[in-house]
Amino acid sequence: MRHELRDLTIIGAGPTGLFALFYAGMRGATAQIVDALDQPGGQLAALYPEKLIFDVAGFPEVLAKDLVHALERQAARFGQPIHLGQVVQALDAEDGHLVLRTESDEFPTKTILVAAGIGAFSPRRLPQACAAPWYGNGIEEHVLDPTRVAGRHVVIIGGGDSAFDWAHQLQGRAASVTLVHRSNRFRAHHATVEAVQADVAAGRTAMYTFHELHEVHAVDGRIHELELRDVKAKTTVRVRCDVVLPMLGFVSDLGAIAHWGLTLVKHEIVVNSHMETGREGIYAAGDIATYPGKLKLIATGFGEAAVAVNEAVHHVYPGKKIDPGHSSNMAVFGQKDD
Ligand SMILES: Cc1cc2nc3c(=O)[nH]c(=O)nc-3n(C[C@H](O)[C@H](O)[C@H](O)COP(=O)(O)OP(=O)(O)OC[C@H]3O[C@@H](n4cnc5c(N)ncnc54)[C@H](O)[C@@H]3O)c2cc1C
Repeated sequence: MRHELRDLTIIGAGPTGLFALFYAGMRGATAQIVDALDQPGGQLAALYPEKLIFDVAGFPEVLAKDLVHALERQAARFGQPIHLGQVVQALDAEDGHLVLRTESDEFPTKTILVAAGIGAFSPRRLPQACAAPWYGNGIEEHVLDPTRVAGRHVVIIGGGDSAFDWAHQLQGRAASVTLVHRSNRFRAHHATVEAVQADVAAGRTAMYTFHELHEVHAVDGRIHELELRDVKAKTTVRVRCDVVLPMLGFVSDLGAIAHWGLTLVKHEIVVNSHMETGREGIYAAGDIATYPGKLKLIATGFGEAAVAVNEAVHHVYPGKKIDPGHSSNMAVFGQKDD
């Protein structure tokens, strides 16, 4: 499908891209987002929807998924489309504008904002061959709704923030929670580790350190038990299991973007203070953009999105100022336009 020509196409529906979509509408530009995931929110939706965030201005604390919903509502104000489930694979120049291509669609555009975060990311898979057939049938790569594990025996594999967050969150919701990690060193927030250890001490959660997956045992085509191997003693133990949540981190891939002739440093796109990449009409903002002093935070992504969109709007409409003025005075919001 070929979409209509837009002033700006944003790659990525993370917090940076969602705010950029709103901002483009506010500046009177036609815009759209293309994202590989099947939901907006980037890392917040895919990696930590149930975590509280404390350092977004104006929110003393906010669940990551609630911040995404608020950003979606703000972005929806101007009715600009978000195309989900499409990986941007190619960039071409055509008839004086640019064209982004996914497997199925073409997005002609006058400018591009790359807000692709850490790239199109996918969960790191369990290395044991016995796990492969169970992906999508008992081994879940994303847990987005904790109610889905209600009454089921859950085994979480990993020793980082996600593993401990989910172990803590699912305790009391799942029939049982078992945490399995290859060592006894954890890469999770101290307070969460302590909370899970308290659950273990109280017998509410089981924890197997120095253990790894050894075998999957099924009954009637469903996972029934996991056999875990003690990596030191070389013994095995079986634990009841309906659902496995591997929390082994993510592999991210910049994919095609790495080959667009942009200057990259450690998989990040180098930009100047205007968020320009060096290739005309292409800007970058958020986690994927780098410059001296860069902080990879939601807050900085918002600021960078505003800079990039204002520059892009001025690029497309040289008669429009880069400086947006104040939203509190804008006619587009029904305010006095001065
Ligand atoms: C566990 C955890 C906790 C965090 N806590 C905080 C916190 O408390 N405060 C804070 O400020 N920050 C926090 N962060 C960091 C914060 O989430 C990031 O800074 C933020 O998500 C960056 O937003 P972004 O929009 O730039 O990129 P992302 O959120 O990564 O979104 C990028 C989007 O681009 C899409 N994409 C990439 N490549 C393509 C492609 N080729 N085609 C189509 N789509 C593509 C991806 O699918 C993704 O949806 C945390 C991060 C993690 C992992």
